[in-house]
Formats: sequence, structure tokens, C-alpha cells
Amino acid sequence: AQAMVAESDPQASALGYKAEASTVDKAKFAKYADGQNCSSCALYASKSAEAGACGIFAGKMVAAKGWCNAYAKKG
Ligand code: SF4
Repeated sequence: AQAMVAESDPQASALGYKAEASTVDKAKFAKYADGQNCSSCALYASKSAEAGACGIFAGKMVAAKGWCNAYAKKG
């Protein structure tokens, strides 16, 4: 299985990625709105109930309940 993106990964950190969307720093990432998470993001490709691939983080998995500043609501 592919590794999960670490919140401390430089790219993840720059985008404010959190594996648990409710812990996003809302002061720094004002774009975040309650209820948003990777599973409803257009860049997310689900691989299991918990995790999936993300177009931003090649070769790693993000949490279904995660979030980052590149969030784009699935159309
Ligand atoms: Fe999650 Fe979307 Fe950010 Fe990828 S781009 S980490 S799927 S919110």
C-alpha cells in the first residue's frame, strides 16, 4: 500500500493539509468550510473508505477525512 501524506511534508504543510479536516488552521486557511474534506474534492480518487489518491500529492495517499487548501468541490 502507498504511504499516507504526512502533515509535516513540506508541500502538505504549505497547503495546510490535515488528515482530520476539523483540525485545519482556520485562521491561516480561511477558505476551509465545515463539512469539506478530501472525499468530496474533485482531485480525490478513493481507494478505500479511509484513503485515496490525490492529484496534488503524487505517489501518496490522503485521508478521506483530510483537507488541504487546494480543495475543489467535486462537480
Ligand atoms: Fe484532499 Fe483535495 Fe487537498 Fe487532495 S487537493 S489533499 S483531495 S482537499
